[in-house]
Amino acid sequence: MPKSSEKNHEHLFAIRLMQHLVVPTFVLDPDGKVMIWNKACERLTNVTATDVVGTNDHWKAFYDQPRACLADLVLEERTDEIERLYAAHSVKDDVFVGVRAENWAVMPRASKRLYLAINCGPIYDDDGNMIAVVETLRDMTEQKRAEEALHSLAHKDGLTNLANRRSFDMKLEADLMHAQRKEEQIALLLCDVDHFKLFNDTYGHQAGDECLKKVARVIEKQALRPTDLAARYGGEEFAIILPNTTQEGALKVAKRLRNAIYDLNLEHSSSLTNERVTVSVGVACFVPEKDMEPTDFIEKADEALYQAKEDGRNKVVC
Ligand code: GH3
Ligand code: MG
Ligand code: MG
Repeated sequence: MPKSSEKNHEHLFAIRLMQHLVVPTFVLDPDGKVMIWNKACERLTNVTATDVVGTNDHWKAFYDQPRACLADLVLEERTDEIERLYAAHSVKDDVFVGVRAENWAVMPRASKRLYLAINCGPIYDDDGNMIAVVETLRDMTEQKRAEEALHSLAHKDGLTNLANRRSFDMKLEADLMHAQRKEEQIALLLCDVDHFKLFNDTYGHQAGDECLKKVARVIEKQALRPTDLAARYGGEEFAIILPNTTQEGALKVAKRLRNAIYDLNLEHSSSLTNERVTVSVGVACFVPEKDMEPTDFIEKADEALYQAKEDGRNKVVC
């Protein structure tokens, strides 16, 4: 075979290899225009090669508004922006080896959100000039959803979708240690539904569950700061951790909570203290001593809660 035809043959083979690679792949030229958009990439994005080759429109396959793709960042040496644009990422010290990132993409043409794992690296000629950037994609949606479901199972209460007891215990311990170190105030609210046994006895356990869900939505709304945590402590008891909060602030939250539950106006005809569902709230607020344990803190809030019950329920005690 003459030399030139051999070269041509190799060239065609390389293109065919790329086109039929099972990994969704596209390649940008040094101007950021699409050179190759392989068949697996067409299947993943529902955007055809003829739609994008020769254009800068590759982002449209993934996002509904203009933004850089990983390949653009590598091409333009803007890898410092990866952190801002991607949910997870790893950039090796040496960009020559390539970068990796993960993200939810809205996939406008495929009409389904996908969690994509993306690898990207430059290609150089014999003289060390960058001649292209290759981006490969992997659909990780199922794995991501499974991971999220597992996280939710481990951290959320199944009935109310609030943080579960385990999450609460972990956060209380961490927040208490933080408050001890910084000598800051920290507050804990314990909230218990009044005469809830009678509610179940009157309306049934199913209605009881529905009631707890409604109460939980209200409690969730009281945890306003990102560092606050509302949790289901157990049964019909809920807790809110308020880091870096004064007694005055904690009382305000507790009273707002009690009033909001009252305003739900859920009928409770067998309650011994009211005609609607109410809660009692115990508040503990401290600059914690060095040796204070989470259980001591909970005990203090529990004592206040007991007092609120003694005082006739639908009360806040600090
Ligand atoms: P108090 O005002 O003193 O708090 O009276 P109470 O009846 O609420 O207190 P008690 O602790 O005696 O009863 C709690 C009730 O909460 C008993 C239990 O059946 C009910 N409960 C606990 N967890 C759930 C749940 O997940 N769903 C339902 N429907 N009821 C629950
Ligand atoms: Mg109780
Ligand atoms: Mg109760």
